[in-house]
Amino acid sequence: MSQSEVPALRANQARLAEILHESCQFGAAHPYGSDTTETGMARLSLDDSDKAVRDWFIKSAESLGCKVSVDEMGNIFAVRPGKNNDAPPIMMGSHLDTQPTGGRYDGILGVLGGLEVLKVLNDNSYETEGPVGVVDWTNEEGARFPKMAVSSGVWAEQVPLKDAWNLKEVTANHDSPKTMKEELTRIGYLGKNPASYRSNPFAAHFELHIEQGPILEDQAQKIGVVEGVQAFKWFEITVKGRDSHAGTTPLYARKDSVLSAARMVAAANPIAKRLGGLTTTGIFETKPGTVNTMAHTVVFTLDIRHMKNETLSQMEEECRAEFKRIAHEDSEKGVEVEWKLLVDSPAVEFNPDCIRVVEQSATDVCSALPQTHPDGKLWRRMISGAGHDSCYTNTRCPTSMIFTPTKDGISHNPVEYCSAEDCALGASVLLGAVLRYDKLRAERGDFAS
Ligand SMILES: [Zn+2]
Repeated sequence: MSQSEVPALRANQARLAEILHESCQFGAAHPYGSDTTETGMARLSLDDSDKAVRDWFIKSAESLGCKVSVDEMGNIFAVRPGKNNDAPPIMMGSHLDTQPTGGRYDGILGVLGGLEVLKVLNDNSYETEGPVGVVDWTNEEGARFPKMAVSSGVWAEQVPLKDAWNLKEVTANHDSPKTMKEELTRIGYLGKNPASYRSNPFAAHFELHIEQGPILEDQAQKIGVVEGVQAFKWFEITVKGRDSHAGTTPLYARKDSVLSAARMVAAANPIAKRLGGLTTTGIFETKPGTVNTMAHTVVFTLDIRHMKNETLSQMEEECRAEFKRIAHEDSEKGVEVEWKLLVDSPAVEFNPDCIRVVEQSATDVCSALPQTHPDGKLWRRMISGAGHDSCYTNTRCPTSMIFTPTKDGISHNPVEYCSAEDCALGASVLLGAVLRYDKLRAERGDFAS
């Protein structure tokens, strides 16, 4: 496909910034500066501010001529018709919910960037070959209802509807936590349509998102062409020793679970470093936890990540072997170590056609910018460190993602920031990718009846 077949349409920077911040009036929290846009967000899924932004989103989409529908997980689909409306739409999606101490860009940019794309198409009276739309996925953060990307998971039929509906809120400050279904009902977003790719198929799913890490900024680059999401596993590791008196038990006679567990946490790090992965311990609990007694038990978590499934397995094996060695040979009288797998998320590889159109669009959009990068490349291919709704859509339709720079790599924090210029560049790349994919569909005969 030649570049000339797709018109060089661009997102409107000022308009995108305006609608993005307008949408953030619902759930704004944690101010850090004097400007009205200098706040974070606390828009928890299905709370009153989420209802308000949903109402606002539907009104905005309808005013652009979109047909809006809601499914039984509260996912909102706004579709702009094209020439061939019997074919499934290309969807641009992300989420409008945030962490309790979240920022104004994570998820929000993807949905509002999608709206801006539709506005540009309208401005230019551009008729796409197939329909094009925007989706707001419910509870992507998993902050209020503890399963991330749960609603795209139901759509992809990877998460049972009943399990999702029965999830109980974990952020409630009262004694009777509500379920997702109760809250969907309360705010009027328990739609009638089945949440399923079977009855509501997509031609493709493109997600614009802030990087949430430091790589683009560190490399002075503007766009990440995301090829996939790294594999990760979560473990709960229990180390059992013996509780005994801190003053009367000589070092040689100890079964010190804390000392052993600390050595294990420290041992995982060089394994990750050598194999090019990541290991993290975020929870470390000691029992009974007093000053003058060795703990009999330590429970800690180990999160391991790598781009390749095989290398992740190798990291796991090496950690298991090393922890065993520490338990038997490097812990005085020895301790017991047990592993429990909590989460197993294999690496995700996005669709080559989707990646290619994002790359073509990024090349085109970046070619118009001052060429400030030493290697002359303002975009890069990259892997996502975090999970997204796109991981689920990828199991049912061609999918890929676009990343924009994130100031200081900080996300899930009120000061999370992506400049208006970078937001607009991302939306322009999204627009170009969607138009190229739309053309590709026509060329390969998706619409032949
Ligand atoms: Zn997100």
